[in-house]
Amino acid sequence: MTSFQPTPAFAAQLDAQDTLRDFRSRFHIPPGPDGQESVYLCGNSLGLMPKTARAAVEQEFADWERLGVEGHFHGTSPWMHYHETLTDASARLVGAKPVEVVVMNNLTTNLHLLLISFYRPTATRYKVLMEGGAFPSDQYALESQVKLHGYTPEAAIVELVPRPGEHTLRTEDIEAKIRELGDSLATIILGGVNYYTGQAFDMAAITRAGHAVGAIVGFDLAHAAGNLEMHLHDWDVDFACWCTYKYLNSGPGGTSGVYVHERFANRPDLPRLAGWWGHDPSDRFQMKKGFRPMQGAAGWQLSNAQIFPMAIHRAALALVEEAGGMAVLRRKSEQLTTYLEFLIHNLNLPASQLEIITPPDPATRGCQLSLLVHQQGRELFDFLASNGIIADWREPNVIRLAPVPLYNSFGDVQRVGAALAQWRK
Ligand SMILES: *Cc1c(COP(=O)(O)O)cnc(C)c1O
Repeated sequence: MTSFQPTPAFAAQLDAQDTLRDFRSRFHIPPGPDGQESVYLCGNSLGLMPKTARAAVEQEFADWERLGVEGHFHGTSPWMHYHETLTDASARLVGAKPVEVVVMNNLTTNLHLLLISFYRPTATRYKVLMEGGAFPSDQYALESQVKLHGYTPEAAIVELVPRPGEHTLRTEDIEAKIRELGDSLATIILGGVNYYTGQAFDMAAITRAGHAVGAIVGFDLAHAAGNLEMHLHDWDVDFACWCTYKYLNSGPGGTSGVYVHERFANRPDLPRLAGWWGHDPSDRFQMKKGFRPMQGAAGWQLSNAQIFPMAIHRAALALVEEAGGMAVLRRKSEQLTTYLEFLIHNLNLPASQLEIITPPDPATRGCQLSLLVHQQGRELFDFLASNGIIADWREPNVIRLAPVPLYNSFGDVQRVGAALAQWRK
C-alpha cells in the first residue's frame, strides 16, 4: 500500500481496476455547489438513495391502490409475509442463521425491546458495561432501562474510557474491566463500531470475556451493519440490533434489524414486551388471550410490518447481495480508507493541527476516518463543503469521513486529499 500516489491519474487507475465501480451509477449522487457530483462521505449518517428505491415503493402504492386490504394476501409481495422476504439477506449481512434475525421497528425501539429481555438485573448482578461517550440514544436507553429496574445510572452503568492520551479502547483493557466486574456484570452493550472514533471492536473477544463471567453480551451495530463483515452466530453474540439508513442506504428513519442468538430461539419464558406480530402465526388471527412467541428473533416483533420502509430496505439489500456481500464490499472498503489515510498522512501536518483518531489497523476500524482538528476545524469543514465534499461534523472538533465501497470511488477520495492539500496552503 506504500505505492499509493496522490494524483488523479493514480486514482483513475484504481477506479479502472475496481470490480465494484459500476455500482456507483445505481445511486443518486447529490450535486455539489458547482452542479457536479459531490464527494459524498456521509454514508455513516445517511446512505445515498438507490435508484431502485422509488420503484420499490411505487410497487407497494400500486398494490394498495389496486387491492386495498387484499394487498395483505394478494399483493405482488403479500404484506402478511413482507418482513420475511428480508430475513435471508439480513442473516447473511451479519453472519447469522435466518431464525436469529428479524427486521422491524427502529433502532432505539429495538434496543429497548432487547434490553427488556437481556438486561435482567439481580441483587448482586446488576451492572451494565458500555462505551463512555456512546451515541446519545444508547446512553439514554441504558439510563432509562436501569432506572426501570430501580437502579441509578451511577450505580449500575460502568463506562469504558480510553487510557489517558489515547482516543480508542484497547481490547485487553475491555477484557480486564469485564474480569474486574466479574459476577456483578449483567449485560455488556457496546457499539460494533464506535460512531465517533470509527473504532471497530473485537466482538468475538468481548463476547468470550463476557460469557466467561456469566454476562450477556450485545452490540449496537448502527455503524457496523453494511460496514464490517460479521459472524454474529459464530462469535456467539447474544443479541444485536442495527439501523438500515446509514451504511445500508434504506432511507431516512428506515427500518431496523434485530439478531437474537439461536440459543434463545425457543425460550417463551424469556421476559419480553409482546405484540400480535410476535405471536405464533397459526392462531394470530383468532385473537385469543395468552401470548405464545414465535420461534427465534421473530418472536420479538410487536406490530405488523411497515411496508414502505421495508420496500426501500429490500431494494437496498439487493444491491449488497448483488455486489457479492460484505466480504467483497469490505475488500474495497479497506483499500478506499487506506488510500484516504495515505493522502492525509501525505500532507505531513503536525499532530498539533490535525490527527486521525481512528485506529490505523484496518482490522480495528470500518470505513470511517475521524479527524481531530485542533485548529479551525469548523473552517476546514466549511472549506470541504464549498469544494463539494460532504463530510460530517461532530462537536467539538471532529470531522468524520466515510468512503463507502458501493458508491464512493478512489477519485472521490483523491479529491478530498487534493482539497486538504489546498487548505493547508
Ligand atoms: C445512528 C445511531 C442511532 C440512531 O437511533 P435511531 O433509533 O435510529 O434514531 C442510535 N445508536 C447509535 C449507536 C447510532 O449510531
